[in-house]
Amino acid sequence: MREWTAARPLLADMYPRIAKPAGQGTVSANLRDYEAIRRDFTWQAARVQLDGLPGGKGLNIAHEAVDRHAAGPRADRVALRWIGRDGSRRIFSYRDLRAETNRFANALRSLGVAEGDAIFVLAGRIPELYFAVLGGLKAKCVVSPLFSAFGPEPIATRLTIGAGRVLVTTEALYRRKVMPIRAQLPGLEHVILVAHAGEPSTEPPDTLAWRTLVDTKSPDFVIPPTDPEDRALLHFTSGTTGRPKGAIHVHAAVVTHHVTGLHALDLHPDDIFWCTADPGWVTGTSYGIIAPLTNGVTSVVAEAEFDAETWYGILQREHVTVWYTAPTAIRMMMKLGVDIVRRYDLSSLRFLASVGEPLNPEAVIWGQQAFGRPFHDNWWQTETGGIMIANFAAMDVKPGSMGKPLPGIDAAIVQRNADGSVAPIDQPMVEGELALKAGWPSMMRGYLHEDERYRKCFVGPWYLTGDLAMRDADGYYWFVGRADDVIKSSGHLIGPFEVESALMEHPAVAEAGVIGKPDPMAGEIVKAFVSLNPGFSPSESLRREILGHARKRLGAAVAPKEIDFSSGLPRTRSGKIMRRLLKARELGLPEGDLSTLEGSES
Ligand code: AMP
Repeated sequence: MREWTAARPLLADMYPRIAKPAGQGTVSANLRDYEAIRRDFTWQAARVQLDGLPGGKGLNIAHEAVDRHAAGPRADRVALRWIGRDGSRRIFSYRDLRAETNRFANALRSLGVAEGDAIFVLAGRIPELYFAVLGGLKAKCVVSPLFSAFGPEPIATRLTIGAGRVLVTTEALYRRKVMPIRAQLPGLEHVILVAHAGEPSTEPPDTLAWRTLVDTKSPDFVIPPTDPEDRALLHFTSGTTGRPKGAIHVHAAVVTHHVTGLHALDLHPDDIFWCTADPGWVTGTSYGIIAPLTNGVTSVVAEAEFDAETWYGILQREHVTVWYTAPTAIRMMMKLGVDIVRRYDLSSLRFLASVGEPLNPEAVIWGQQAFGRPFHDNWWQTETGGIMIANFAAMDVKPGSMGKPLPGIDAAIVQRNADGSVAPIDQPMVEGELALKAGWPSMMRGYLHEDERYRKCFVGPWYLTGDLAMRDADGYYWFVGRADDVIKSSGHLIGPFEVESALMEHPAVAEAGVIGKPDPMAGEIVKAFVSLNPGFSPSESLRREILGHARKRLGAAVAPKEIDFSSGLPRTRSGKIMRRLLKARELGLPEGDLSTLEGSES
């Protein structure tokens, strides 16, 4: 157990709470009375909010997401509103989505693909990706969406670990990335290619065309009995450290997806929801596909990558009400300033949420300035399958905090004892490992082929997250860092997030990444890499000014000793700063697995 260094002002004390004005969503929020809902919550009761397969035949994610709405009063409500890169639109009601996903499930059956077989999807955010994921779940296959930006090697690694039998991709991606590795993948029997409108239909050998295989199939399909514990999804972790792990999730996860959609994202039946994440990252599946659909809302899917003006245009044109995005994008929007935001009518927006890495207090507050609403940070992992800790719609936001555990989730800050046991730390603002009491439905059921690694995640009743955090006296959780990113300098324990947040307060700093650099005297010193806002350029005097700001703000023991200017920081495709890589580059060490590095194809 480590006392947080008391001498410096804590992030938790630096920023005032953002109180929820009455009326700003608080009156109608799904989670109005946090304590009461938490007290009464059981996962069994949550399960009853879903239908289950007709005739008591179990629980299937795709039934809850699609078929139950298609068979009821929401059948003609828009389920997916797809916006192509060129601005074109394709609209699918729940009824349409049932037909499209059924066609894909029938196509799998026609190929002899069996329950439990693994299907991979390698595509940008095109409608067929969504049909394949949900249709694959209907056929009771194990579905794994991959980032389309992966290069041949990461694709081969994941298809091998996951024993992919079917791959859905596009012709262009196939030619460039899969053909070179196809011979290494004897288990990959079927490759189904989606053609873009206007593309010639000359499929390469040993591939099948979506248009002839899938579009010709019957729009009727009966989902077979599904045990809630049947495997459903395989997500590879973002690999900020080491080799990718394949986390296995089961159909029961849909209960978590559904209730966290209600509680953490505050989804209401009439919402127009936009999750900007790619389904290659777990957020883009749990909240870009499943949760909005089980909640019966309209989900916007935008094919284009981030561009601030394009995004503001989508928010305005589509009348998005609930927007779920990530810190990287928010920081890029901040860099461009609020004036651009003012050119758009974003009055439909009522709830803003963020996930994926720590959301600096500056970014939370910027949300308030730019959109009249703070970003609500929430925390979870590939392994947890769904949101575990969140700032809720009806609760005051403490900028820089991840919020409080969801109903049904018991969280604790624990210390590991010498005998291997763990014990919760009761005092507030003491740093330890964030642990969750195992037993919620979307918890991973294993790492594929890595039982020992999986077992090591648990001690007694606790699942250990590998993140360090603190809990304050009001029960809000504060992220400190990944256990392996934390810096120890002259006996002080320093979380990179706190230092990065302080650096970002300086007007010149757009982004910061902080590492511990080995030092003979201090053990480690704090080293920062910063990228600058437009209008600022690197100079010795600016370096000194930023160092001075950090010292004033954090104290000399915690402030960086060194600052390097960098035009951009290395990050994963899901937006996390890769501190491991900053450190490896700084120290001239091997860079390790770079498959998730944004912009790379290796
Ligand atoms: P992934 O499994 O790729 O989604 O990565 C999960 C990890 O991302 C967590 O263990 C955290 O280290 C980090 N993370 C996710 N959300 C947050 C958040 N709101 N604040 C701080 N770190 C986060």
